[in-house]
Amino acid sequence: MLLEIRDVTVRYGGHVALNGVSLGVEAGRVTGLIGPNGAGKTTLFNVLTGLLAPSSGQVLLDGEDVTRLAPYRRARRGMARTFQILELFGQLTVLENVQLAARLRRRSPGRHSRAGTAWPGGPDSLDPRALLDRVGLGAVADRRADTLPTGQGRRLELARALAVRPRVLLLDEPASGQDEAETAAFGDLLGELAGEGLAILLVEHDMTLVMGVCAHLYVLDFGSLMAEGGPASVRADPRVREAYLGTV
Ligand code: ATP
Repeated sequence: MLLEIRDVTVRYGGHVALNGVSLGVEAGRVTGLIGPNGAGKTTLFNVLTGLLAPSSGQVLLDGEDVTRLAPYRRARRGMARTFQILELFGQLTVLENVQLAARLRRRSPGRHSRAGTAWPGGPDSLDPRALLDRVGLGAVADRRADTLPTGQGRRLELARALAVRPRVLLLDEPASGQDEAETAAFGDLLGELAGEGLAILLVEHDMTLVMGVCAHLYVLDFGSLMAEGGPASVRADPRVREAYLGTV
């Protein structure tokens, strides 16, 4: 497993948001994390990226314990994320948003940029214009980021995350604000990126996207893992249908 959490518990005061959760994200495939609102998905993301320290349990990146490592240090080790609420530099252009991310990566090459690591898209993947073309934003490269509709903003977030040449990509509800055709294209792109060796964790409510692109799924409910497996077995699980799939 490239990214793993082991027996993670998070308490907010008396409220248990995650209760002994273990899961893994493998290179070369899209792993899905689904569950009802409030199940703990964003909390889990924040534990993975280092925004939140778990009350107990461990986070391992490529076998190394990173539980107490700051978010920027995890980013240097190859972790990139997008947010449920868009976090773009609105006053910069679309291209500048990606250039900035690419520059951050070059300033801090670190030991994890060693040769031989699989970068999605090959050596050109760091070229900001090529990245924008890849996510379908080439034509709007010179627009201010805050003028983009949400769907395009989500793809800009993806381009920016890819610009740091991650090994693990964590996506928090990337389909929200994208229409059906955009979401389908986005899913194809995720499949390609995984095919190039990237490890992707997808938190998403759009079940067409989740079932179409994920090789493995984890289902959270009230802070606990209620099921895991391939999309077909998860979809057929009566507990999952009752707790979640019946509602989306
Ligand atoms: P959604 O699908 O709506 O984004 P989620 O699965 O991401 O939901 P979380 O946002 O992780 O769920 O929340 C898990 C639980 O923890 C919820 O009951 C929520 O109210 C609670 N919670 C989240 N953040 C905090 C906080 N900072 N302080 C107290 N409770 C919190």
